[in-house]
Parts: sequence; structure tokens; C-alpha cells
Amino acid sequence: MVANHCVPTSNSSAAYTTRDGCPWWCVTGHGSPRDPGWHESLSAHVTAPALSANQCTGERPETLLSATVVTLADRPDVFGTTTRLWVDVPGDTLELTVPETDMLIARLEAFLPRLRAARQLLASASMDDRPENPAAVERYMTALHDRITARTVAVAA
Ligand SMILES: [Zn+2]
Repeated sequence: MVANHCVPTSNSSAAYTTRDGCPWWCVTGHGSPRDPGWHESLSAHVTAPALSANQCTGERPETLLSATVVTLADRPDVFGTTTRLWVDVPGDTLELTVPETDMLIARLEAFLPRLRAARQLLASASMDDRPENPAAVERYMTALHDRITARTVAVAA
């Protein structure tokens, strides 16, 4: 069970959030300076096992997927309430209903056997990988530099 951190207060930064209606699963620190003004559950995360191609050494691996139940309750007597599963993917957020969440689950379950098959292919195909040859790299880079220099000189002439 998730601890309920909701604290009724009259001077919060999100005074519109209904504290009386704070659900048992909410972990939002209502009344704190970081109160987003909605009710939010703990999140489930899938973190990348390695850095992405655009990341630098020392950075933390990206979260590939996270799922959090969120209830928007801004003046609920006026605007009502809306509860969705917020699924964060790099660069965007999906706000899913229960049927849409079922579709996501089905697609992820269908993805896992394909991921396992790709892993098996990777294990087989990577057995033919071979290490870089530093001397050959040096010869290649020297020859490349020489071709670029020759072409630059020819264009300038
Ligand atoms: Zn709450």
C-alpha cells in the first residue's frame, strides 16, 4: 500500500487541489512548493540498460517508459475530475484511458517475444563480430587525410 502524503493546508501553491478527495494512492506532497496540483501515484519505470547514441559518458541512461496514474482535480465542482495513465516516453507524454492502457499492455506483451527473438539473433550474429585493428585504422585515416588534402589543393588551384 502506498502512503498517503496529502496534508490539508490553506496556503499551498496548489490550493485548488481537493485535499478531502485525495485518493489513497496519491503520493503528491500537497502544500509543498513542488505540488503540481494533481493527485499522482508512484510511477513504474523502464530505464535503458545503456546510454543512447546521443548521450555522453557520465550521463544517466534515459527512462524509456514510465507510467503514473494522475487525477486532475482543478476545481472539481466546476471542471470535474479526469484520471489517466500518464505514460512518459522520451520527448512526450501519452494520457491513456483504461481501454488505451489495455491496448498498450497488449502491444508490449506482443513486443516481448519479438524482442526475445531479436536478442537471440543478436547473440548469434554478434558471434562473428571482430575487434578493431588499430594499425589498419591508422593506415585508413592517413590515406583519407591524404585524399582530402589532395582534393582541397586541387579545388584551390
Ligand atoms: Zn493527492
